[in-house]
Amino acid sequence: MAAFTGGEVYKADFDPTAYLEYFKFGGGTLGDEFLAFVLKHYCKTFTSGAVTGRTLIDIGSGPTIYQLLSACETFKEITASDYIDQNCQELQKWLKNEPGAFDWTLVMQHVCELEGDRNKWAEKERKLREAFKRVLKCDVHKSNPLDPVVLPPADCLVSSLCLETACKDQSSYRAALRNISSLLKPGGHLVLSGDLGSSFYMVGPKKFFCLVLTEEFLREALSATGFAIQEFDVLSRGDDTMQEICDFSGMYFIVACKEKAI
Ligand code: SAH
Repeated sequence: MAAFTGGEVYKADFDPTAYLEYFKFGGGTLGDEFLAFVLKHYCKTFTSGAVTGRTLIDIGSGPTIYQLLSACETFKEITASDYIDQNCQELQKWLKNEPGAFDWTLVMQHVCELEGDRNKWAEKERKLREAFKRVLKCDVHKSNPLDPVVLPPADCLVSSLCLETACKDQSSYRAALRNISSLLKPGGHLVLSGDLGSSFYMVGPKKFFCLVLTEEFLREALSATGFAIQEFDVLSRGDDTMQEICDFSGMYFIVACKEKAI
């Protein structure tokens, strides 16, 4: 098992450019399988009318935007967030369309194809830039993760591959769920995705800790923190190569509703 890599290690060692290698969609990296799985689910979740509203907060966005591509069809006020400056800067670079920003075209085209028209990707890019209102610092271990900023409770929270990397054990994971839940309106939705059974992942040459998640634990933790699970999809890992890069055994996609009275 990898040693826990807390916030200070992220600040020192997490290289957004190396991480983004996983998102060169179709390039045969470990990211391909995960992206194909989650993008399909995001599309279904955000374009079927199952999850609607105006405001959405993405927790632990990293340097990525794939998780917002279908959401921006519905949510017109999107806030991204991350613990480390270099990820916030990478997102700003994309937002402002600055030179050197990561090229998300292949991912956007795939999402547009799922949504019915591959050719609409430039329009989607515009839509997301328009809806994307801010990038904030975030720490899921704080009772208000966006402290010192206070936002009105959102209609939806998205978080992908974040809590399992930020939390060293199950009780810290439950506490972090409670903390992020404070950013959500009662009746609002949490859309949570990531890897099952993973104990580490590589970003370039650096190894990062991951809390091993099981479906059973996720179900228990969500209901203990006041969420009603509406959808819980799991897919086993198909590609067994690249175990030295990440040892996940499957992927999960969850839609849960914050219960009105807890
Ligand atoms: N959501 C992105 C990035 C996941 S990588 C994706 O789906 O690809 C894990 C992210 O969690 C990193 O960007 C890291 O900076 C962030 N993170 C680590 N500790 C955190 C904490 N305490 N609070 C919020 N985010 C944290």
